[in-house]
Amino acid sequence: MYTASCLCNGIQLKISQNISKILVCHCKQCQKAQGAAFVAIAPIEIKNLDIIQGKELLSEYYATENKKRVFCSQCASPIYSARLDLPDVIRLRVGIINEDINAKIYSHAFTQYKACWFDLPDDGALIFDEKVVV
Ligand SMILES: [Zn+2]
Ligand SMILES: [Zn+2]
Repeated sequence: MYTASCLCNGIQLKISQNISKILVCHCKQCQKAQGAAFVAIAPIEIKNLDIIQGKELLSEYYATENKKRVFCSQCASPIYSARLDLPDVIRLRVGIINEDINAKIYSHAFTQYKACWFDLPDDGALIFDEKVVV
C-alpha cells in the first residue's frame, strides 16, 4: 500500500496495489505538463485507487480528446492522467507518492522528442522512439 499527496496536501490518495513498473515519457506534451524533461508514471487500476481527501480539488485538462490530465486546482501538482478508452486504469505521477517504491524505470517512450539537454540514463530500461509497446 502507498499513499500519495499533492504539494499543498489538499489531495490525499491511497494506492492498494504493488507498483512494479515506472514508465517514463519524453513526449512534448508531457514535457509541457510537468515543466520538466519527462514524466514518470505508474499504471494503477482504478479499483485500487482511493481518493481519501480533496476530490473537489481535482481539475482536468484535455490536451488531446482521449486523455485527461488531472491536477490539483490549488497547487497545480500533476496527479494522474487517464484515457477515456481505458477506463479501468489511471497513470499516476510517481513523484507524488510519499513512500519509497520498490520499482525501477521499465521504459523510456517517445525518446525522439526528448529534451536536448537531457541525456538518457544507462539504466537498462527499454527505449522506444515512439510509444511504449508493452
Ligand atoms: Zn494541491
Ligand atoms: Zn508523453
